[in-house]
Amino acid sequence: MPIKSCTLPNGGGSGYQWGNHGKCYRSRAKAEAQAAAAHANGFTGDAKPTPKLLKPIPPNAGIEAAYRKQITVLLDEMTSSVEYWLKAGYRKNEPLMAQDSVSTDMQKIIQALIKRSIKKFDAFAPEAAEMFADKSFKHTDRTMMLQLKKMGWTVPFKVNKPMQDALNATIHENVGLIRSIPQEYLTDIEGAVMRSYAVGHDLKTMTDEIQRIGGVTRRRAAFIAHDQTSKANSVATRARSVALGFTKAVWRHSKGGKEPRPSHVAANGTVYEQAKGLLIDGEMILPGTLPNCKCLGVILVE
Ligand SMILES: [Zn+2]
Repeated sequence: MPIKSCTLPNGGGSGYQWGNHGKCYRSRAKAEAQAAAAHANGFTGDAKPTPKLLKPIPPNAGIEAAYRKQITVLLDEMTSSVEYWLKAGYRKNEPLMAQDSVSTDMQKIIQALIKRSIKKFDAFAPEAAEMFADKSFKHTDRTMMLQLKKMGWTVPFKVNKPMQDALNATIHENVGLIRSIPQEYLTDIEGAVMRSYAVGHDLKTMTDEIQRIGGVTRRRAAFIAHDQTSKANSVATRARSVALGFTKAVWRHSKGGKEPRPSHVAANGTVYEQAKGLLIDGEMILPGTLPNCKCLGVILVE
Protein backbone atom coordinates (compact mmCIF):
# COMPACT_ATOMS: atom_id res chain seq x y z
CA MET A 1 0.00 0.00 0.00
CA PRO A 2 1.59 3.30 -1.04
CA ILE A 3 2.05 6.46 0.97
CA LYS A 4 -0.30 9.06 -0.49
CA SER A 5 -0.65 12.78 -0.02
CA CYS A 6 -3.55 14.00 2.11
CA THR A 7 -4.96 17.18 3.55
CA LEU A 8 -4.19 17.89 7.19
CA PRO A 9 -7.16 18.88 9.36
CA ASN A 10 -7.97 22.49 10.20
CA GLY A 11 -6.34 23.90 7.07
CA GLY A 12 -2.97 22.46 7.99
CA GLY A 13 -1.96 21.99 4.37
CA SER A 14 -0.69 18.84 2.70
CA GLY A 15 0.50 15.76 4.60
CA TYR A 16 1.25 12.04 4.21
CA GLN A 17 -1.06 9.09 4.64
CA TRP A 18 -0.62 5.33 4.43
CA GLY A 19 -3.04 4.13 1.74
CA ASN A 20 -6.66 4.89 2.57
CA HIS A 21 -6.37 3.55 6.10
CA GLY A 22 -3.74 5.70 7.76
CA LYS A 23 -3.92 8.91 9.68
CA CYS A 24 -2.82 12.11 7.90
CA TYR A 25 0.65 13.07 9.22
CA ARG A 26 2.75 16.13 8.56
CA SER A 27 5.86 13.98 8.17
CA ARG A 28 6.25 11.16 5.65
CA ALA A 29 8.32 9.15 8.15
CA LYS A 30 5.38 8.94 10.56
CA ALA A 31 3.04 7.67 7.83
CA GLU A 32 5.66 5.06 6.88
CA ALA A 33 6.01 4.04 10.50
CA GLN A 34 2.27 3.50 10.72
CA ALA A 35 2.38 1.32 7.60
CA ALA A 36 5.21 -0.75 9.08
CA ALA A 37 3.31 -1.16 12.34
CA ALA A 38 0.17 -2.29 10.53
CA HIS A 39 2.10 -4.93 8.57
CA ALA A 40 3.87 -6.06 11.74
CA ASN A 41 0.41 -6.59 13.23
CA GLY A 42 -0.56 -8.94 10.40
CA PHE A 43 -2.08 -6.58 7.81
CA THR A 44 -1.77 -8.33 4.45
CA GLY A 45 -3.78 -6.11 2.15
CA ASP A 46 -7.26 -4.75 1.60
CA ALA A 47 -10.10 -7.06 2.53
CA LYS A 48 -11.50 -7.03 -1.01
CA PRO A 49 -8.73 -7.87 -3.48
CA THR A 50 -9.04 -6.71 -7.08
CA PRO A 51 -10.24 -9.63 -9.23
CA LYS A 52 -7.53 -10.81 -11.56
CA LEU A 53 -9.46 -12.88 -14.09
CA LEU A 54 -12.31 -12.04 -16.41
CA LYS A 55 -15.07 -14.59 -16.67
CA PRO A 56 -14.78 -16.83 -19.73
CA ILE A 57 -16.66 -15.42 -22.70
CA PRO A 58 -18.40 -18.30 -24.50
CA PRO A 59 -19.47 -18.08 -28.15
CA ASN A 60 -23.06 -17.00 -28.68
CA ALA A 61 -25.46 -19.82 -29.63
CA GLY A 62 -27.98 -17.37 -31.12
CA ILE A 63 -25.43 -16.01 -33.58
CA GLU A 64 -24.50 -19.54 -34.60
CA ALA A 65 -28.15 -20.52 -35.13
CA ALA A 66 -28.89 -17.43 -37.22
CA TYR A 67 -25.81 -17.97 -39.38
CA ARG A 68 -26.59 -21.66 -39.87
CA LYS A 69 -30.18 -20.85 -40.81
CA GLN A 70 -29.15 -18.20 -43.32
CA ILE A 71 -26.82 -20.63 -45.12
CA THR A 72 -29.29 -23.52 -44.88
CA VAL A 73 -32.09 -21.56 -46.57
CA LEU A 74 -29.91 -20.98 -49.62
CA LEU A 75 -28.58 -24.51 -49.47
CA ASP A 76 -32.06 -26.07 -49.39
CA GLU A 77 -33.05 -23.98 -52.37
CA MET A 78 -30.01 -25.30 -54.26
CA THR A 79 -30.45 -28.97 -53.33
CA SER A 80 -34.15 -29.05 -54.23
CA SER A 81 -33.48 -27.35 -57.55
CA VAL A 82 -30.63 -29.78 -58.31
CA GLU A 83 -32.78 -32.74 -57.39
CA TYR A 84 -35.69 -31.54 -59.52
CA TRP A 85 -33.69 -30.85 -62.68
CA LEU A 86 -31.53 -33.93 -62.47
CA LYS A 87 -34.54 -36.20 -61.95
CA ALA A 88 -36.28 -34.65 -64.94
CA GLY A 89 -33.15 -34.98 -67.07
CA TYR A 90 -32.52 -38.55 -65.97
CA ARG A 91 -36.07 -39.61 -66.84
CA LYS A 92 -35.59 -38.35 -70.37
CA ASN A 93 -32.06 -39.72 -70.74
CA GLU A 94 -32.08 -42.82 -68.58
CA PRO A 95 -29.03 -45.07 -69.21
CA LEU A 96 -30.34 -48.14 -71.01
CA MET A 97 -27.36 -50.26 -70.11
CA ALA A 98 -24.26 -49.97 -67.96
CA GLN A 99 -21.42 -47.99 -69.56
CA ASP A 100 -23.81 -45.56 -71.26
CA SER A 101 -22.13 -42.16 -71.22
CA VAL A 102 -23.82 -39.04 -69.85
CA SER A 103 -25.88 -37.47 -72.65
CA THR A 104 -25.18 -33.96 -73.90
CA ASP A 105 -28.62 -33.04 -72.62
CA MET A 106 -27.73 -34.17 -69.11
CA GLN A 107 -24.35 -32.46 -69.25
CA LYS A 108 -26.04 -29.19 -70.16
CA ILE A 109 -28.38 -29.50 -67.18
CA ILE A 110 -25.48 -30.13 -64.80
CA GLN A 111 -23.44 -27.23 -66.15
CA ALA A 112 -26.42 -24.87 -65.85
CA LEU A 113 -27.02 -25.97 -62.25
CA ILE A 114 -23.36 -25.45 -61.33
CA LYS A 115 -23.28 -22.00 -62.90
CA ARG A 116 -26.52 -20.85 -61.31
CA SER A 117 -25.77 -22.17 -57.80
CA ILE A 118 -22.23 -20.84 -57.63
CA LYS A 119 -23.44 -17.44 -58.80
CA LYS A 120 -26.08 -17.33 -56.05
CA PHE A 121 -23.65 -18.32 -53.30
CA ASP A 122 -21.01 -15.91 -54.57
CA ALA A 123 -23.52 -13.07 -54.39
CA PHE A 124 -24.67 -14.09 -50.93
CA ALA A 125 -21.28 -14.79 -49.31
CA PRO A 126 -19.76 -11.31 -48.71
CA GLU A 127 -22.82 -9.81 -47.05
CA ALA A 128 -23.58 -12.89 -44.94
CA ALA A 129 -19.96 -13.23 -43.83
CA GLU A 130 -19.71 -9.57 -42.90
CA MET A 131 -22.93 -9.62 -40.94
CA PHE A 132 -21.87 -12.76 -39.09
CA ALA A 133 -18.37 -11.48 -38.23
CA ASP A 134 -19.74 -8.12 -37.15
CA LYS A 135 -22.33 -9.68 -34.84
CA SER A 136 -19.74 -12.06 -33.38
CA PHE A 137 -17.22 -9.34 -32.62
CA LYS A 138 -19.88 -7.07 -31.12
CA HIS A 139 -21.12 -9.88 -28.87
CA THR A 140 -17.62 -10.52 -27.52
CA ASP A 141 -16.97 -6.81 -27.06
CA ARG A 142 -20.22 -6.16 -25.23
CA THR A 143 -19.71 -9.11 -22.89
CA MET A 144 -16.17 -8.04 -22.08
CA MET A 145 -17.18 -4.40 -21.57
CA LEU A 146 -19.92 -5.37 -19.10
CA GLN A 147 -17.51 -7.50 -17.10
CA LEU A 148 -14.88 -4.79 -16.96
CA LYS A 149 -17.48 -2.23 -15.91
CA LYS A 150 -18.54 -4.44 -13.03
CA MET A 151 -14.91 -4.65 -11.97
CA GLY A 152 -14.69 -0.87 -11.94
CA TRP A 153 -12.76 -0.40 -15.17
CA THR A 154 -13.78 2.27 -17.57
CA VAL A 155 -12.07 1.55 -20.84
CA PRO A 156 -12.47 3.10 -24.25
CA PHE A 157 -13.82 0.54 -26.68
CA LYS A 158 -12.41 1.89 -29.89
CA VAL A 159 -11.52 -0.32 -32.83
CA ASN A 160 -7.79 -0.32 -33.52
CA LYS A 161 -5.90 -1.64 -36.55
CA PRO A 162 -5.18 -5.18 -35.23
CA MET A 163 -8.86 -5.53 -34.33
CA GLN A 164 -9.95 -4.38 -37.77
CA ASP A 165 -7.48 -6.86 -39.28
CA ALA A 166 -8.88 -9.68 -37.15
CA LEU A 167 -12.41 -8.79 -38.24
CA ASN A 168 -11.40 -8.65 -41.92
CA ALA A 169 -9.64 -12.02 -41.67
CA THR A 170 -12.80 -13.55 -40.18
CA ILE A 171 -14.93 -12.12 -42.99
CA HIS A 172 -12.48 -13.33 -45.61
CA GLU A 173 -12.35 -16.86 -44.21
CA ASN A 174 -16.14 -17.08 -44.08
CA VAL A 175 -16.60 -15.81 -47.62
CA GLY A 176 -14.30 -18.62 -48.76
CA LEU A 177 -16.13 -21.24 -46.72
CA ILE A 178 -19.59 -20.18 -47.93
CA ARG A 179 -18.42 -20.20 -51.53
CA SER A 180 -16.95 -23.67 -51.09
CA ILE A 181 -20.34 -25.14 -50.13
CA PRO A 182 -21.90 -25.29 -53.64
CA GLN A 183 -18.54 -26.08 -55.21
CA GLU A 184 -17.96 -29.19 -53.09
CA TYR A 185 -21.61 -30.22 -53.31
CA LEU A 186 -21.83 -29.96 -57.08
CA THR A 187 -18.52 -31.75 -57.64
CA ASP A 188 -19.92 -34.69 -55.67
CA ILE A 189 -23.26 -34.49 -57.51
CA GLU A 190 -21.55 -34.48 -60.88
CA GLY A 191 -19.53 -37.54 -59.86
CA ALA A 192 -22.70 -39.31 -58.69
CA VAL A 193 -24.44 -38.70 -62.03
CA MET A 194 -21.40 -39.94 -63.96
CA ARG A 195 -21.30 -43.10 -61.87
CA SER A 196 -25.02 -43.66 -62.38
CA TYR A 197 -24.50 -43.75 -66.13
CA ALA A 198 -21.38 -45.85 -65.87
CA VAL A 199 -23.11 -48.59 -63.88
CA GLY A 200 -26.61 -48.08 -65.29
CA HIS A 201 -28.37 -47.09 -62.07
CA ASP A 202 -32.11 -46.57 -62.04
CA LEU A 203 -33.65 -43.22 -61.11
CA LYS A 204 -34.31 -44.21 -57.49
CA THR A 205 -30.71 -45.21 -56.84
CA MET A 206 -29.43 -41.97 -58.33
CA THR A 207 -31.96 -39.89 -56.37
CA ASP A 208 -30.98 -41.60 -53.12
CA GLU A 209 -27.36 -40.79 -53.79
CA ILE A 210 -28.18 -37.14 -54.56
CA GLN A 211 -30.11 -36.87 -51.30
CA ARG A 212 -27.28 -38.44 -49.35
CA ILE A 213 -24.86 -35.86 -50.75
CA GLY A 214 -27.35 -33.12 -49.80
CA GLY A 215 -27.35 -34.42 -46.21
CA VAL A 216 -23.56 -34.41 -46.05
CA THR A 217 -23.55 -30.83 -47.33
CA ARG A 218 -26.13 -29.73 -44.78
CA ARG A 219 -24.05 -31.18 -41.94
CA ARG A 220 -20.96 -29.47 -43.33
CA ALA A 221 -22.78 -26.12 -43.40
CA ALA A 222 -23.89 -26.59 -39.78
CA PHE A 223 -20.34 -27.45 -38.84
CA ILE A 224 -19.02 -24.31 -40.55
CA ALA A 225 -21.50 -22.14 -38.62
CA HIS A 226 -20.60 -23.80 -35.32
CA ASP A 227 -16.88 -23.76 -35.82
CA GLN A 228 -16.69 -20.24 -37.14
CA THR A 229 -18.79 -18.88 -34.27
CA SER A 230 -16.31 -20.32 -31.79
CA LYS A 231 -13.31 -19.16 -33.79
CA ALA A 232 -14.63 -15.61 -34.28
CA ASN A 233 -15.30 -15.36 -30.54
CA SER A 234 -11.79 -16.50 -29.72
CA VAL A 235 -10.16 -14.14 -32.20
CA ALA A 236 -12.32 -11.21 -31.06
CA THR A 237 -11.58 -11.90 -27.39
CA ARG A 238 -7.87 -11.88 -28.09
CA ALA A 239 -7.92 -8.80 -30.31
CA ARG A 240 -10.01 -6.72 -27.90
CA SER A 241 -8.22 -7.68 -24.72
CA VAL A 242 -4.78 -7.14 -26.24
CA ALA A 243 -5.97 -3.73 -27.48
CA LEU A 244 -6.86 -2.94 -23.86
CA GLY A 245 -3.39 -3.98 -22.73
CA PHE A 246 -4.28 -7.38 -21.28
CA THR A 247 -1.63 -9.48 -22.95
CA LYS A 248 -2.00 -12.72 -20.99
CA ALA A 249 -4.76 -15.27 -20.70
CA VAL A 250 -5.34 -18.61 -19.00
CA TRP A 251 -6.25 -21.66 -21.05
CA ARG A 252 -9.54 -23.01 -19.78
CA HIS A 253 -10.53 -26.45 -20.96
CA SER A 254 -14.28 -26.87 -21.32
CA LYS A 255 -15.66 -30.09 -19.96
CA GLY A 256 -18.58 -29.86 -22.39
CA GLY A 257 -16.91 -31.54 -25.36
CA LYS A 258 -17.75 -35.14 -26.20
CA GLU A 259 -14.22 -36.13 -27.18
CA PRO A 260 -11.82 -33.82 -25.38
CA ARG A 261 -8.26 -33.66 -26.70
CA PRO A 262 -6.00 -34.95 -23.91
CA SER A 263 -3.48 -32.20 -24.74
CA HIS A 264 -6.17 -29.54 -24.22
CA VAL A 265 -7.22 -31.08 -20.92
CA ALA A 266 -3.56 -30.97 -19.85
CA ALA A 267 -3.31 -27.30 -20.92
CA ASN A 268 -6.08 -26.28 -18.50
CA GLY A 269 -4.84 -23.49 -16.25
CA THR A 270 -1.76 -22.64 -18.30
CA VAL A 271 -1.01 -18.93 -18.69
CA TYR A 272 -0.05 -17.92 -22.24
CA GLU A 273 0.86 -14.79 -24.17
CA GLN A 274 -2.19 -13.91 -26.23
CA ALA A 275 -0.12 -12.58 -29.12
CA LYS A 276 1.57 -15.95 -29.50
CA GLY A 277 -1.03 -18.45 -28.35
CA LEU A 278 -0.13 -21.67 -26.55
CA LEU A 279 2.10 -24.43 -27.92
CA ILE A 280 -0.09 -27.51 -28.07
CA ASP A 281 0.74 -30.59 -30.15
CA GLY A 282 3.54 -28.71 -31.89
CA GLU A 283 1.39 -25.74 -32.92
CA MET A 284 0.86 -22.28 -31.43
CA ILE A 285 -2.91 -22.04 -31.13
CA LEU A 286 -5.66 -20.05 -29.48
CA PRO A 287 -8.43 -21.79 -27.52
CA GLY A 288 -11.62 -22.54 -29.47
CA THR A 289 -10.01 -22.37 -32.89
CA LEU A 290 -9.56 -26.06 -33.73
CA PRO A 291 -12.55 -28.10 -34.95
CA ASN A 292 -14.96 -28.77 -32.07
CA CYS A 293 -12.60 -27.26 -29.51
CA LYS A 294 -14.68 -25.72 -26.73
CA CYS A 295 -11.71 -24.40 -24.76
CA LEU A 296 -11.74 -20.71 -23.84
CA GLY A 297 -9.12 -18.12 -23.04
CA VAL A 298 -9.74 -16.41 -19.72
CA ILE A 299 -8.25 -12.92 -19.76
CA LEU A 300 -5.83 -11.97 -17.03
CA VAL A 301 -6.45 -8.42 -15.88
CA GLU A 302 -3.25 -7.00 -14.46
ZN1 LIG B 1 -9.86 -27.59 -26.81
